[in-house]
Amino acid sequence: MCHAFLTDTSFYQLLTRIDESIAEEVRARGCGCGGRLHSARYPRKPRGLRSALNESYESRLSFCCARDGCRRRSTPASVRFLGRKVYLGVIVVLITALHHGLTDQRRRRLIEQLDVPAQTLWRWRRWWRQRFVETRCWQALAGQLIAPLVTDSLPGSLLERLSGKGLSERLVQLLILISPVTTATGSLRVSADPQKM
Ligand SMILES: [Zn+2]
Repeated sequence: MCHAFLTDTSFYQLLTRIDESIAEEVRARGCGCGGRLHSARYPRKPRGLRSALNESYESRLSFCCARDGCRRRSTPASVRFLGRKVYLGVIVVLITALHHGLTDQRRRRLIEQLDVPAQTLWRWRRWWRQRFVETRCWQALAGQLIAPLVTDSLPGSLLERLSGKGLSERLVQLLILISPVTTATGSLRVSADPQKM
């Protein structure tokens, strides 16, 4: 494996803790109707790197309003699950960013190890260029950047701007920044995309 952190259990546990703290804020806020939120997780089966993942990766944190007549869903932003994609967000970011960083050889090896089909890769690249750039999350982010980014090189161009020490630290920063796209309220169209990526 090219990047040691990708097989490091503690890296994934860190992402789980970030998701749990985001979810705790959502739960504490409660439903818009004033009702209490109860846990109603979505089952997930992320592909690739299963051996490094503990049971926390078998579900996405989500809540349901406890009040009769409401029962509305509240799904917190996630740094682990990127929308409905079956691969973890870190894999989607890393592989599409590698397109603009590592040598072709290292990138190919990683794709083979993770067993990502070529068509999936193509869809991911299209998602960054066409869908992600239209999200409210990206528009807010882009507005805060001092110098504009080349959107054709996303997410690599964003990864390069971050200040984290190593690649794993910058990946975590990027996953936090883009996490609003993983909730219905943070995105314009992404969450409505029925296509599984
Ligand atoms: Zn409610």
